[in-house]
Amino acid sequence: MINKSKFKEPIQLLGKEERRTGFKEVEFTLTDENAVKESLRCLNCKSSPCAKGCPVGIDIPKFIKCVSQGLISEAYDVICKSNFLPSICGRVCSQEKQCEARCVKGKIGDPVAIGRLEKYVADKMIYCFQKREVKTLKESKKIAVIGSGPSGLTCAGELGHKGYKVDVFEALHTPGGVLAYGIPAFRLPRSVLESEIKGLKEIGVRIFTNMVIGKTLSIDDLFNKGYNAVYIATGAGLPKFMELPGEGLAGVCSANEFLTRINLMKAYDPKFDTPIKFPKKVVVVGGGNVAIDAARSAVRLGAEKVSVIYRRGESDMPARKEEIFHAREEGVEFVFFKTPIEFFGENGILKGVKCACMKQEGKDNLGRSIVIPISEEKIYLEADMAIISVGNKVNRLLCESETDLSFDKNNRIIADKITTRTSRKYVYAGGDAVTGAATVILAMEAGKRAANQIDKDLSSNA
Ligand code: FAD
Ligand code: SF4
Ligand code: SF4
Repeated sequence: MINKSKFKEPIQLLGKEERRTGFKEVEFTLTDENAVKESLRCLNCKSSPCAKGCPVGIDIPKFIKCVSQGLISEAYDVICKSNFLPSICGRVCSQEKQCEARCVKGKIGDPVAIGRLEKYVADKMIYCFQKREVKTLKESKKIAVIGSGPSGLTCAGELGHKGYKVDVFEALHTPGGVLAYGIPAFRLPRSVLESEIKGLKEIGVRIFTNMVIGKTLSIDDLFNKGYNAVYIATGAGLPKFMELPGEGLAGVCSANEFLTRINLMKAYDPKFDTPIKFPKKVVVVGGGNVAIDAARSAVRLGAEKVSVIYRRGESDMPARKEEIFHAREEGVEFVFFKTPIEFFGENGILKGVKCACMKQEGKDNLGRSIVIPISEEKIYLEADMAIISVGNKVNRLLCESETDLSFDKNNRIIADKITTRTSRKYVYAGGDAVTGAATVILAMEAGKRAANQIDKDLSSNA
């Protein structure tokens, strides 16, 4: 029985007041009844256009059909064949640009809520503690994974399931990469990440934190310790700054620092001794997911006014539409076609941001607006905190310490797009460390490809 509704089944959201005072997840998981109704909107298209929009190629019609029949475990198996961390992707993937963008239902209404259905299935399974089958151990083959973000965790999980002994080395004190230090709990509850990591540990993957490869140990050390292959997934965690006057004033910080203090060091909780300023007027510079996460986190710290300034218009913003919608609901103000030219202050403390006004002058080859300043026109925004979120790059540590590897001029590791092999034998690399700042699902897809390649290379050399 098909559900002919043009619209997605309604989803329950956390109340606006509760959102301003805490970090609880904003969007609830579909109820059993709503999930079945939503799944019945799917036309089960033979050519699966939606699956072509998914970077890991989940068999979307098949898993949705299972949901419509109440076969949750079977739906989970279908998803897990292609995606190791569905509870995370269901929450943070840009579905509107990927799977849902290709859904035929989207032509005359809402696309099928593929992301929400994926989250529903994964959440049901987490709470059932069901796991995938692990193959027999492959004698003594050991793999080292550097970095515990989505790429490293996926590679570790895939290799763990293939029967390898896998050790993950993480520089920070908590595993998860951006999933732990960047994306706030109101979008990705820590219990979800913790249970995915617990699942990995249950299949024998070990995670060593506070291990900075390139400083604590080198890649040579890892091979000397008996690892047969190394996968590098160190991400792109170094924030870019704008090199503007006043950027060194107290009160100006990067979104990475701001979010890490909140997410990893719980600076909002008086029980923790991480210093953080509880700002009143906040200006966030940027238009991506990171900027919106910072703005919504500032709201939760009790800021009276939070403004996101972006040099282009709303339709050019790279952030997920849903997050922009939630930010507006939470009182975040958007100021388009403005860019900072100076952070001004008194006695070394930020007082505000001077911005140039921009106007659109055509489109670039990616279809984004080209903007140029309107001469002489300036605006001043009062602020006691300015959060810069204009992108992240790869840090230089491995580039300086691992001379056997090849890097490009932006410190990104050069690795083959298909095999993930680097210039050093049995060393593979993927995720943001290779592509520059990208997305969770692309990082995971690289981790999966690396696992398959490592398995192939080590098996052919057995
Ligand atoms: P990371 O997640 O960066 O993980 C790399 C890990 O390696 C880190 O834990 C780091 O500490 C560790 N490491 C670094 N150097 C070393 C070393 N020398 N030794 C040991 N460990 C090391 N993408 C989306 O798809 N949807 C979103 O909604 C979204 N929101 C985002 C919000 C924020 C705030 C940020 C910052 C990014 C967001 N992204 C989003 C982008 C996405 O999170 C990244 O593309 C993805 O996490 C990259 O995964 P990765 O595994 O390559 O690297
Ligand atoms: Fe869509 Fe991401 Fe799930 Fe693929 S992994 S089906 S792109 S939500
Ligand atoms: Fe279902 Fe949409 Fe995919 Fe068709 S394109 S199978 S309707 S999710």
